[in-house]
Amino acid sequence: MQKYNIAIVGSGIIGMTLALQLSTINHINITLFGKKPKYSEFKTTAILATSFDIYKRLLDLNKSHPQISKLKKFKIIDELKTKKKIIDFDAREINLDSFAYNIRDNFLADRLHKEIKNNDSIIFKNEFIEGLEDNLSKTTLNTSDGVKEFDLVIGADGRNSIIRELAAINYSKKTYKESILVTEINHSIPNNNTSFEIHRNGSLLTSVPTSDKDSAIVMIDHSQKIDGIDIDDLNAIISEGLSTYLGDTIVSNKYSILPSVTINAEKLYRNRVMLVGESAHVIPPIGAQGLNLGLRDIITFYNILLNNEAKDPGSKTILSSYNNMRWFDIYKRYKSVNLLYQSMMNNNAGYSAIRNIGFLTLNKSRRIRNMLLSEGLSFNK
Ligand SMILES: Cc1cc2nc3c(=O)[nH]c(=O)nc-3n(C[C@H](O)[C@H](O)[C@H](O)COP(=O)(O)OP(=O)(O)OC[C@H]3O[C@@H](n4cnc5c(N)ncnc54)[C@H](O)[C@@H]3O)c2cc1C
Repeated sequence: MQKYNIAIVGSGIIGMTLALQLSTINHINITLFGKKPKYSEFKTTAILATSFDIYKRLLDLNKSHPQISKLKKFKIIDELKTKKKIIDFDAREINLDSFAYNIRDNFLADRLHKEIKNNDSIIFKNEFIEGLEDNLSKTTLNTSDGVKEFDLVIGADGRNSIIRELAAINYSKKTYKESILVTEINHSIPNNNTSFEIHRNGSLLTSVPTSDKDSAIVMIDHSQKIDGIDIDDLNAIISEGLSTYLGDTIVSNKYSILPSVTINAEKLYRNRVMLVGESAHVIPPIGAQGLNLGLRDIITFYNILLNNEAKDPGSKTILSSYNNMRWFDIYKRYKSVNLLYQSMMNNNAGYSAIRNIGFLTLNKSRRIRNMLLSEGLSFNK
C-alpha cells in the first residue's frame, strides 16, 4: 500500500493529540514540528464527558486519576439585577456521572509529549516552521533540514497560526474590550465537584474544581480593570463573588492575563493545507467548548482517513469532506458562544432580554434544559 507523508505544525495539546491519533493508521507517516508547550500553571481545561475517551485510548488516562477533577454540577448565578437568579445543573439529570473532567494543561501536555517520544511512528522535530509553499499537487515546508515535501500539511499552530497566514486561508478575528485572568484559589468549604459561574454587569467569574478545596478561576472583565489589578483587589473580588458558596477564599499569589479574542476561519483547508484546533477557531472560554471543538476536528479527520484508506490524505475529496463535516459544528458553536458572551458583557436592552428569556425558560422547562445540556455536550457528534 502506498504511504503518505503528513506534517503537523504545532505541538500544543491539539497537535500532539492529532499526531498520536493519526499514528494508528498504517498508510500515514507523521512528522510533528514544534517545541514542548508550556502553558500557564493555572490553566486547566474541562474536557467534556463526550470527548474524554480519546485520552483513555491514546494515553490510558483514567477519569479517576488524582490529577483529574470531576465536574458533576454547575451553578449559574446571575447578579445583573439586585435580585439574584440562580440555575443549578446536575449531570444526573442527563444520566451522566460528570459533565466534564478538569485537567491541568501542563499535565496533559506532559503526558502527550512522553507518549509521542515513545512512539516510533511519529518523527518529532523540535523546531518552529517559518516557511510554506503550497499548490494543488504538493506542499513544502522550510525546515532545519532544508525544504521538505509533504502530501498534506496540517496547521495546529494555535490562534496566531503562521500556516493559516502562509496558506492564505481567510479568517475573521475580533478582539473584545475585555481581558481574561486565570489563577487558582484555595477555599474553606469543599466545592462538591461543582463549578460556579457568576454573571455581573460586564464581567464573568468562573470557578472549576481542581481538588476538594481548590478551584481554578477564570475571570473576564474590562481590560482596564484586569490589566492593572493587584493581588489585594483580586482577593476582594473573588471573595465577594464566591465566599457564599466556597467559604473563605485565598487566591494564589500569581495569575496570568490573556486578551479576549475570537477567530473563525472561512474555510478549513486550501490546496494541501488544512487547519485544526485554535488555528481554525477561537471562542471565548465559556461552557468548556474550545478544546472540545478541536478534539472533534481530530476524530472527524481520523474517521475520514480510516474510511478512505487508499486515498491521498491531501486530495481535494478528503479535505472537502473534512471541511463539510466540521464547518457547521464550528460555526454554530462560534455564533452561539459569542452571542452568549456578548449577552453577559453588554448591558443593552436587547441582550438583557435574551438573558432573561434564557433564564426563565431554563428554570421552567426540563425538556429545554436537557436539550441545552445535550447540545453543550455535543451528544452524537
Ligand atoms: C482561560 C481559558 C480557559 C479555557 N477553558 C477551556 C475548557 O474548559 N474546555 C475547553 O474545551 N477549552 C477551553 N479553552 C480552550 C482551549 O484551551 C484551547 O482550545 C486549546 O488549548 C487550544 O489548543 P491548540 O493546540 O489548538 O493551541 P495551542 O495550545 O495554542 O498550541 C499551539 C502550538 O503551536 C505552536 N506553534 C505556533 N507556531 C508554530 C510554528 N510556526 N511552528 C511550530 N509550532 C508552532 C505553539 O508553540 C503551541 O505549542 C480555554 C481557553 C482559555 C483561554
